[in-house]
This record gives sequence, C-alpha cells and structure tokens, in this order.
Amino acid sequence: MTTEAQSTARTIASINPATGEVLRELECAREAEVCAAVERAKSAQAAWAKLGVRRRVAIVREFQAKLHAKKSEIAAAITREAGKPLAEALVTEVLVVLDAARFLIDNAFTLLRDEPVPHGNLATKLKRGSLISEPHGVIGIIAPWNYPFSIPATETLAALVAGNAVVLKPSELTPLVALELASLLHESGIPKEVFQVIVGDGADGAALVASGIDKLVFTGSVATGKRIAAAAAERLLPVVLELGGKDPMLVLDDANIDVASSAAVWGAFVNAGQACLSVERCYVHHSLYEEFVEACARKARQLRIGNGMDANTDVGPMIRERQVRIVESHVEEAKVRGARVLVGGKRLPELGENFYAPTVLADVTHDMRIMREETFGPVLPIMSFNNDDEAISLANDSEYGLAASVFTRDSKRGERIARRVHAGTVMVNDVISCFAISEAPHGGVKASGLGRTHGKFGLEEMVRRKYLDIDPMPRMKKVWWHGYGENFRRQMEGFLDLQFARKFSVRLRGAFRAAGVLRRKRL
Ligand code: NAD
Repeated sequence: MTTEAQSTARTIASINPATGEVLRELECAREAEVCAAVERAKSAQAAWAKLGVRRRVAIVREFQAKLHAKKSEIAAAITREAGKPLAEALVTEVLVVLDAARFLIDNAFTLLRDEPVPHGNLATKLKRGSLISEPHGVIGIIAPWNYPFSIPATETLAALVAGNAVVLKPSELTPLVALELASLLHESGIPKEVFQVIVGDGADGAALVASGIDKLVFTGSVATGKRIAAAAAERLLPVVLELGGKDPMLVLDDANIDVASSAAVWGAFVNAGQACLSVERCYVHHSLYEEFVEACARKARQLRIGNGMDANTDVGPMIRERQVRIVESHVEEAKVRGARVLVGGKRLPELGENFYAPTVLADVTHDMRIMREETFGPVLPIMSFNNDDEAISLANDSEYGLAASVFTRDSKRGERIARRVHAGTVMVNDVISCFAISEAPHGGVKASGLGRTHGKFGLEEMVRRKYLDIDPMPRMKKVWWHGYGENFRRQMEGFLDLQFARKFSVRLRGAFRAAGVLRRKRL
C-alpha cells in the first residue's frame, strides 16, 4: 500500500446498480487495521479450534436457522447491492448457503475426524498410522461482487467448521452484503474476532495477502489472481484461486432443441451473464444450428429486463458501467468481424446506465474476442460445428477451464465427450447448477485457477493433514538402525526378496535369510 493511501482515508460507495442510488459510503480499512484484524483473529483462533467440531457444527446449524428465517431480507439486500433478480438472490445465493451449511452439518464430523492409515510395508506393519486434520489458523478470504453472499459464505462456513478464524475482504462493490453475513454469523454464536470483515478495495486485499494469514482463498479475475499468486509466493502462503472462465456449451446433433436453447438462454443471462460459470460460448451441430439460434433469439426477446426488486424481472442490470463497456467492446468487435446480432447488441439507457440488452450473436468465429476473452455480460455467441471431435477441440481451445456443458439425448455419449473436455466440471444436460451441489467440488483447470472450494475437497483445503505415527514397541530398537555389516546386507536382500520377488520359492528363501535380523546387534 502506498504512503499516500495510508495518509488519506479512502472511501468506497455501495451503489444500487439498478437505480444508481448510493446505499452507503464506507471508509476503507488502513493497512495497520488489516494487520490488527488478523492478529485479533490469530489470538481468538485457538479457543475456537478447541471447541471441537461438534460444537462448531452446532453453531453452523444455528446460522442455518437464522439465515432461513431471514431469507427474504438477505435476498433483498443482495438484489439492492448486486442487481440480480430477487428469485436469483434466493436460489443462487441464499439456497446455496443453506445447503452448504446442511452439507457441513451432515458431513463435517466424519470428514474431519482422524483417519487410520494401515501400512503395507512389512518393516512398518506394526506401527499405528493416522491422519489428523488441523486448522491452518487464520484463513483470508477475498471475494468478488457477482455472488457477494454465496461465495464468501460457503468458503467461510467450511473454514470455520474446520477450526480456523476468518478475515474476509469482500468486493468494494458489495460490502453491505458481507456485513449482513457477519451479523448473521455473530448472532449465531461465532465470536467477533473469529470472523471479521475488512471493508475496502484492492489495496486492502493486497494488505490482507501480505498480513499474517495462514492461507488465502481468493475468488476473482485471472489478472488479480496472478498478482496474488506472485505476492503469495514471496512467503510461500498457500492459496486457493477461483478465477475466471469462458465456459463452453456443446449442443450435439441429437439434442432436444427446446431444452438446450432454454439452457443456453438461462446459462448466458442469469445474473446478467456475470457468473463465472455462465455459458460464455455456445457450439451447435450444423444440422440444428439455424433452428437453435432462432429458438435462443425468440426466448431472449421474451426476457423482462429491469430492476431485480420487481418479481417479474428476468434480467437485472450489470454491476457498473465499466462492465457494460467491456461487453459493448466485445460485441462491437464481433459485429465488425461479421457476427450477426439476432437480438440485443445495445445498451438500454431508458432503464439506467448499467443495463445492456440480452444479446444473441450468430456466425461468430473463434478468433473474435467474444469467443476468447471473458465477456462477463449478457451475451450468447453461437457457432456451428461439424462433428464431435471438432466440438471438443473448440471447447478445449481456450486458456480457461472452469466448467463446460454437453447437451445430448444420449447420456453415455455425453459422458464420453465430457471426459475429453478440459474443465474442472462438465455437466451433461444442465448448466451452472453444479455450484449449488454442495457435495461437488468447485474449481478450474488452466487459467481458471488452483484448488477447490465446496464439498469434501473444499473442506480439505481448510485443514493441514498431519500424519501421526505411533510405534507400539517403545523398548525395541528398529532393525534398520546402525550397526550394519555383511550379514545385515544379506538379511536385507532377503527381506526385499520376501516382499517383492515374483516367485514364491525366492520369497521363501528371502524369509529365511531375513529371519536373523531381529537378533542383530544395533547401536
Ligand atoms: P477482481 O479480481 O477485480 O476482484 C476480486 C477481489 O479482489 C475484490 O475483492 C478486489 O477488491 C480484490 N483485489 C483487487 N486487487 C487486488 C490485489 N492486488 N490484491 C488482493 N486483492 C485484490 O474480480 P471481480 O471483478 O470482483 O470479479 C469478477 C471475476 O471473478 C470474474 O473474472 C469471474 O469469472 C471471477 N469469478 C470466479 C469465480 C470462481 O469461482 N472461479 C466465481 C465468481 C467470480
């Protein structure tokens, strides 16, 4: 952080993207405050870890009940600050968190308990091995604005259940939702120092990375992810990076056009296309192409665009005007290079400066930015392919690898193709909903990130596995300790034969040769 940033107080404004109304101005934390928050979390973490998993799970149960009781209030707070329709705030945010809590309530105890590790090597057979899970300490979470509740909340719950303290730095665009999360957690019994929110911008995120946290879970853009990875490398800070995507949807020649086109339209326009898992590019077999494109255009025309607070709204505003500009530049470039705009392709200034019309583009080519860079807006670009191999190679021709989808009436064929697509998740006959499956790990390959959140593997990221080895014969020196000699060398050859020779007769001879080893004099 610069000296200037330190000396002048920086502020951020929470703005309703549908109306432009400033909901609240907040002061950014200073670097010293970020460090102090982490220190407080460190001091409080040991007692939190000592409570034990069952007690922590009971607090998560309390949180779940409180969130359920306040579901509509929280959904409204999300819609006010992030713009998405109320129904989406309920389904893609509140429901996801309630179910993540359910997953932890049902599974955390089993997943976090000590795990015996039986030994196969005869030399160590009698030892008792086990894996125990220890919390890292303080987990820093840096979150984006597009799912301001479900992303930090699911990560936080897993971190807390595992016995960590959490310091969350939400996006500067959606701090109020994070403060709602903090209130709910504190009311449920999480001590104030065990879960803290740092209000601020990128500089505060950088300060959190440089602070004394023990692990970082970052969700955001690839550019920021790379900066964070470089900073984390300086001090070997373990990180999970959930980054951007350019998720492909493949529509095979046997797909149901009505179902697949509805999926494409929902997948491209949910949260006004501002979803890491959204359908960012669509490939359709040439035999269905025209009909599919027409179906998408017809359905896109029927979408009702407006303030997410209106229950009839299907698509809300984008988060900020600068995000609209990115979308606009991708669409304009595609148009200049020959893409056909079937619907949309323009701003909707009559609704507000952050509204962009859901846009369906046909005849796009793979060298257009709209097919290569993350657009993160309400655009569905569609391209045709000739056969399955070509579809797979188009899907894999991307620097990203977050998720993908395949639509076909033949689920075996869908599965075969899914196995060949390079992505963290591939869905057959559905899009995006994998994020709401609390058992499913979430994360990408290639530039889409490192590590996983959600489910068993997400919980695993929140603990260090310690291997515990107990030798039940404290009075016996180990046979491999010093005091070597020709005899010992021969005994060891025999021991290796006993364990690894293919022929039974050699193994038997090895057993005889090795037998004397227990009587060997050791230092
Ligand atoms: P962003 O990278 O601009 O910001 C994310 C967070 O990082 C914010 O809290 C921001 O304040 C903070 N930050 C910015 N600079 C920082 C720095 N130098 N050091 C530390 N923290 C810093 O991303 P965004 O615009 O908020 O979110 C959109 C992006 O997030 C898209 O690319 C989207 O695909 C991605 N995303 C990924 C997932 C996933 O699970 N893979 C989920 C949601 C969003």
